[in-house]
Amino acid sequence: MTIIGGGLAGAEAAWQLAIRGIRVDLYEMRPTVMGPAHHTASLAELVCSNSLKGTDPATPAGMVKRELEAMGSMLLATARKHAVPAGAALAVDRDRFSAAVTARLETLDEVTIHREEMTALPATGPVIVATGPLTSDALARALSEVIGVERLAFYDAAAPIVDAATIDRPRVFAASRYGKGTGTDYLNAPFARDEYERFHAALVTAERVTAKEFETAELFQACQPVEEIARRGIDALRFGPLKPVGLTDPATGRRPWAVVQLRTENRDRTAYNLVGFQTNLTFSAQRDVFRLIPGLESAEFVRYGVMHRNTFVDAPRLLDSTFAVRSDPRIRVAGQLAGTEGYLEAVAGGLIAALAFAAEASGAEVPVLPVETALGSLVRYATDPGTDPYQPMHANAGLFPPLDPPVRGKRPRYAAYAARGAQALATWSEANATLLAPALAALDDDGTGGGSRDARA
Ligand SMILES: Cc1cc2nc3c(=O)[nH]c(=O)nc-3n(C[C@H](O)[C@H](O)[C@H](O)COP(=O)(O)OP(=O)(O)OC[C@H]3O[C@@H](n4cnc5c(N)ncnc54)[C@H](O)[C@@H]3O)c2cc1C
Repeated sequence: MTIIGGGLAGAEAAWQLAIRGIRVDLYEMRPTVMGPAHHTASLAELVCSNSLKGTDPATPAGMVKRELEAMGSMLLATARKHAVPAGAALAVDRDRFSAAVTARLETLDEVTIHREEMTALPATGPVIVATGPLTSDALARALSEVIGVERLAFYDAAAPIVDAATIDRPRVFAASRYGKGTGTDYLNAPFARDEYERFHAALVTAERVTAKEFETAELFQACQPVEEIARRGIDALRFGPLKPVGLTDPATGRRPWAVVQLRTENRDRTAYNLVGFQTNLTFSAQRDVFRLIPGLESAEFVRYGVMHRNTFVDAPRLLDSTFAVRSDPRIRVAGQLAGTEGYLEAVAGGLIAALAFAAEASGAEVPVLPVETALGSLVRYATDPGTDPYQPMHANAGLFPPLDPPVRGKRPRYAAYAARGAQALATWSEANATLLAPALAALDDDGTGGGSRDARA
């Protein structure tokens, strides 16, 4: 088994396979070749923040932790062992965390770590490609030969996405321009003139993110941020992405002054993106400014807009629900390269890909997490051909199947998602107990996340 990339996904996958007795060749290019964001030679380096997000089990981030725990994640256990005080979040001492993961893998007889850049995919044998958002150019080229060059993106210019349940429905109306489409493809947030002018003023003065050195002007040539369009003049937006043509507001019977269109993100219509709103504003500025859009005054953002370097595959068209390339299932793509965003989501990607290979190797049924779980809903979003276009995504409430009956209020709604997810997870864990047992037993050995081999070492 070959794993390319010793980041969060690759490190978790290597451990999961090794403790099941599967020999792994793990290729990590650092420190021989350093990428633009990593700084150390350690495996599982956290490239930016040291936070693995909140621990409240009644939130998607907390659900992710509970699910990883149930699956026997070594990286989560190691993170807990090296946690630093961070209120309601799990944050880690990044050096100790990465050093511990590296040491753990180095002591496993089944893992051989090669410190070299892979420039091609191995011709035979199963492989997990987990080279992350900054995959080296040579490997990206090799991968695009397998999956098709049009299926690999190098930049992420994503508009914000809001939780459908938090849109003020009476303030928006469902319609497609000129009555085309099904009529319910878009929700439209209509601006009166004074509302538009207030929004414009806030947008052009809002705080922006400073792009990293390696994030060149190339991205901005291809795709203008909404705030840049606004800077061209007061009317630039309403003659551009906010044009109201072909739309009549049923509340007034007239064409609005300007319109923000919201397009559904998924089949269940539980999340909507703001069409044309690629943005480079800081997350807090996005929250403040975009809540000036009529109907979004109380919107919860399940993902903020971003514009940055990010290599990822068009997973919904390429990968099945175990991250296997549909046209060549010996290859799995895991972690952020599959477009699942976030540290623990990357860990989960590696874990899911490894479990699938382990199940195949033992002739067991390949497990797929239920969609009621936070990770299961993310996997479905990422690998459902109905997700189009695809933008990288972290686990969030906008991806869950709707509650039946609906629950009003954020906290009760999140609690209901969590309760439903916990139940689905328990059933799934029981059904897959034999497959999960080796990891859980290894983590139990020292009670803090150290496997028996680590203890021995
Ligand atoms: C600048 C930046 C900041 C970020 N900040 C955050 C944050 O604060 N919080 C968060 O949750 N997420 C953040 N992310 C996203 C973050 O990258 C992912 O959450 C996570 O690191 C992805 O894990 P991964 O295992 O998929 O990739 P990585 O952790 O990046 O691991 C991929 C590994 O593959 C190696 N590699 C690449 N090409 C090759 C090759 N050809 N041969 C051998 N090895 C190779 C790399 O050296 C790297 O070690 C950030 C991303 C970037 C780029």
